[in-house]
Amino acid sequence: MNERDSDAVATLLRDKGYSIVNEEKTADVILLNTCSVREQAEQKAIGKAGYITARKRRNPNLVVGIMGCMAQNKGNDLVDKLPDLDLIIGTQKFHRVPDHLSNFIKSMSGLGPRPNTIIDIEEEKGSQNTIKSHAEEKKVSAFVSIMQGCNMKCSYCIVPKTRGSERARPSSEIISEIKDLAKKGTKEITLLGQIVNQYAVREFPFLEKKSPFVQLLEKVNAIDGIERIRFTSPHPVGFKDDLIECYKRLPKLCEYLHFPMQSGSNRILKAMRRPYSIEKFKHIIEKLRAIKPDIYISTDIIVGFPEENEDDFEATRSAFESIGFDMAYIFKYSVRPGTTAEPKGDPVSREIKEQRNQVLLDILNKSSLARNQSLIGTTQEILLEGHAKRGNNMFTGRTRGYRKVFTHASDRLIGELVEVKITKATASSLTGDLVITN
Ligand code: SAH
Ligand code: SF4
Repeated sequence: MNERDSDAVATLLRDKGYSIVNEEKTADVILLNTCSVREQAEQKAIGKAGYITARKRRNPNLVVGIMGCMAQNKGNDLVDKLPDLDLIIGTQKFHRVPDHLSNFIKSMSGLGPRPNTIIDIEEEKGSQNTIKSHAEEKKVSAFVSIMQGCNMKCSYCIVPKTRGSERARPSSEIISEIKDLAKKGTKEITLLGQIVNQYAVREFPFLEKKSPFVQLLEKVNAIDGIERIRFTSPHPVGFKDDLIECYKRLPKLCEYLHFPMQSGSNRILKAMRRPYSIEKFKHIIEKLRAIKPDIYISTDIIVGFPEENEDDFEATRSAFESIGFDMAYIFKYSVRPGTTAEPKGDPVSREIKEQRNQVLLDILNKSSLARNQSLIGTTQEILLEGHAKRGNNMFTGRTRGYRKVFTHASDRLIGELVEVKITKATASSLTGDLVITN
């Protein structure tokens, strides 16, 4: 989501005549987009901002801003920590960056003192409709924000505070954005929202028992030029049969689901205020696998939530192992200000969190490696995204199941669906040979 927001801001700035430089050192304006989900992310951003603002001593014309969740979360307090910041722009104000920047730069010229920091972190009605611009150049795969905010109250989570309450974009605008992307050559779309399957449940009606999200998926599936659809993140609440059946009905919907579990212990799920049981979570996966046996599933887990004892972790370990995830983001619990879990403190030690994290990573490595090895010798459809960072003229792309693949190819194939015969596998990637079809 942050990547998408940053890209939208960069596009607005380009439209105003700014150019994006490749090297931070050569920039006249540096904007940091920030995450507040864990304290470590905020510390990192503050460290980076401090390092950059220190450069102003040598280059007083440098303009530095912080945008996004940490700007929203800390607001004025950021100026106490980083008095040299010029802009603090909240999550509902990304589209105002060009105006704020130009006002700041205008008031900077002259010999007077440096203007005060511009702080804009108010709520803004309709701000969910503003994250829609995309760069002119073709993107093989593009993110599309379909909603903002979250109405859930997971006890560990700061997102409802930083992103505000749930607000959906009209589906007509989403569809026209995707049609424009398709015209420019985009083949793959990832729909973004904090609980993407809750899209517009309050604003738009269910039709023939289909949720507004399922209706949206159908419309995206009908867009010419779009070949693959993904979305992130769905919530077990509202993950009903109408959505499960999409995996049978909608050919462009990829066999891949990011499905956050958070914990395998019902006691902890309850303390986290996640309104489902591990049995229900597993049941949804069973139903999906009954329809798409080869579906790839990834998840989010938090280890070391307050009160997570050995039995609770054992329940997580065992669910994690028996489900057999193909990918996972495992987070060590971090206390967040203003959340309902904050008063519980952080009683699980860092060592125990580290140990539990490692246990899950080991399981993940094994299952991910086994899954990748099972693909050796098969031919997979890859959407070729571009040059790989690692040399040897390799290119990179992904399977429908979101596995990363390296192959030799050529520039003219970037953005195309190609067939690749898999020859090698590691836990995190595949390597293969392009199958020449004509
Ligand atoms: N809306 C998504 C999650 C967004 S936050 C969902 O509900 O699935 C991304 C992930 O960060 C969460 O799934 C959770 O695993 C992790 N996370 C959130 N708050 C956290 C905290 N306080 N400490 C550690 N991990 C956290
Ligand atoms: Fe946070 Fe829960 Fe909302 Fe996800 S659903 S953003 S974890 S409050």
